[in-house]
Amino acid sequence: MSECLFCKIVDGTIPAAIVAESERALAFYDVAPQAPVHVLVIPKEHITSADEVASDHGGVVDDLIMLAQRVMDDEGVRQQGYRLVLNVGPDAQMSVAHLHLHVLGGRRLEWPPG
Ligand code: AMP
Repeated sequence: MSECLFCKIVDGTIPAAIVAESERALAFYDVAPQAPVHVLVIPKEHITSADEVASDHGGVVDDLIMLAQRVMDDEGVRQQGYRLVLNVGPDAQMSVAHLHLHVLGGRRLEWPPG
């Protein structure tokens, strides 16, 4: 998937502000943060969206969530709480076709979201 922006971040051909990684996941700051802490956690493997996740991906979403926990711990906001968001498809305004977990925290977040 050489045309995929987030695959290029995984392979290092496009720079990103990487904050953490695990065997199968990578975390980096979102370039247009919507909260004081806004990190994207992605699988290193190309998966187009959450709608494509299947049992043969072997618990990859667990890996994303566990890396998000570690990042929010490191950022000092885990105890206060945070939001995990997976946008899927055009109505959710998904703009990068590589599964990514938005991890937002560091302030009181509106609910319901806009
Ligand atoms: P979504 O709208 O759910 O597809 O989210 C894509 C996110 O990727 C947006 O919040 C963008 O700000 C973010 N983004 C796009 N390009 C980059 C990049 N090169 N580095 C970090 N974040 C990015």
